[in-house]
Amino acid sequence: MSEIASVLFAREEIGRRISELGREIAGDYGARDPILVSVLKGGTIFLADLMRSVSRPLEIDFLSISGFGDGDESMGRVRILKDLDTDIAGRDVLLVEDIVDTGLTLAYLLSTLEGRGPDSVRVCALLDKSVRRIAPVEPSYVGFDCPDRFVIGYGLDFRQRYRNLADILAVDDMAALQADPDALVPLLDGDTGGEPA
Ligand code: 5GP
Repeated sequence: MSEIASVLFAREEIGRRISELGREIAGDYGARDPILVSVLKGGTIFLADLMRSVSRPLEIDFLSISGFGDGDESMGRVRILKDLDTDIAGRDVLLVEDIVDTGLTLAYLLSTLEGRGPDSVRVCALLDKSVRRIAPVEPSYVGFDCPDRFVIGYGLDFRQRYRNLADILAVDDMAALQADPDALVPLLDGDTGGEPA
């Protein structure tokens, strides 16, 4: 295992938790078929697994935003780069997020979606960095509470890399990763030293 990052949530643990979330969501929505909305790009892997663990009819849709901290956007400004294809008026929307950190992105998305007249908008976040919260947003479903660490893998990137790691890793030595962004590429062969299958 690398000295730069270590496994925080192993693939097996993620899979088990997503099965539980899927059962809970299926039970809560009953016959009200929800639209699961994923925020590109980080949330796509979570959406792909979560939707297959919900044993009820559902729809999916995607949106893309310019996030806080993308470098070209000042704090407090988020822009929709790709909007939903679906009219969500009168529908039950479940926003599927990879991670909620300060909550500022989520607060913006919620106010935007709520303005379109849906019956309900709820949030399912795989990771919740609750200690970092600034905006008062509370996901209805949370996979794991996440420590205040920078995490990568399972959809989450560092400079667009490492979304395809099967486990979620915490970066232990950010300076080393910044100096060599490809330092963790050897871990992409599948062995991050997490739980054995
Ligand atoms: P928020 O607006 O809640 O502060 O930020 C949410 C967004 O910040 C997430 O959708 C994600 O893109 C990014 N983010 C926050 N924490 C992390 C992290 O630990 N790792 C990665 N890769 N992205 C993060």
